[in-house]
Amino acid sequence: MLHYSLAKLGRAAGRAKGTKAELPPVQARLAGEKEYYAALRSMLAEMARETRESIIPLYQLEIERKRAQPAVTVDAEPNWFNRIGLLRMALVRIASNTVDRILNLEGLRHTENFMAAAKRALGIDIRAVVRQEDIEDYVREAIARNTSLITGLSDDLQKRIEQAVYDNSIAGNSVKTLRKTLMDQFGIADRRAKLIARDQMGKFNSDLNRIRQTQAGVTSYVWSTSHDERVRERHRKLDGKTYKWGEATGAEQGLPPGQPVQCRCIARGVVEF
Ligand SMILES: [Zn+2]
Repeated sequence: MLHYSLAKLGRAAGRAKGTKAELPPVQARLAGEKEYYAALRSMLAEMARETRESIIPLYQLEIERKRAQPAVTVDAEPNWFNRIGLLRMALVRIASNTVDRILNLEGLRHTENFMAAAKRALGIDIRAVVRQEDIEDYVREAIARNTSLITGLSDDLQKRIEQAVYDNSIAGNSVKTLRKTLMDQFGIADRRAKLIARDQMGKFNSDLNRIRQTQAGVTSYVWSTSHDERVRERHRKLDGKTYKWGEATGAEQGLPPGQPVQCRCIARGVVEF
């Protein structure tokens, strides 16, 4: 969707027809990723606390009963997880609201930085043609996608907790063994939370770069890596290559920079005057 033409504005400002210029990329902000991860961590920490306070004591009680009356088999029951289920829904809402706020702020910041980049690289003031509403639909979709991921993360953790309790109960394991299994599950959830925060913030920034560039009539870009030791071999080979927006790249599934999982590469828009 073309909203205005950077090339036309550039020519009006004295750029010679047929010349080219690169737009400095708007980078993802590490602080945004950290805040996102922190929101997920507090959700997971509350679930861990609830497990310690309401589920483990029931398990302990069950073991004591079994010991007192070996003939009676009392096992873990689905209602042990009612409280954490209710709490989880409230926690998902809190984490999603925080992420909603982070994405909105990052959207505003991206708009500011994109305008500053055009001013710095091309000497063009695009304040009058760039509107925050131009990314509103996208930001809304991104928030929906992130809410779904956060719900999925908490849902998966609850299933893992339940599974751990049932497995240990059936095996007649001690509370200590149960705790150890649960610690492993919380570790898995925490690593996944970190990956979601990094991946989603990277994708959000990458999407906004594409949207802002195509709205300005920029049809091609140069693939640019972060030029450090963490760049994967496949992307190192793409550094400096020019692609058209929408064209398949040499990356995983032909994706543009910043879209493959954990990719920190970025698209430098090419303005052709
Ligand atoms: Zn990359």
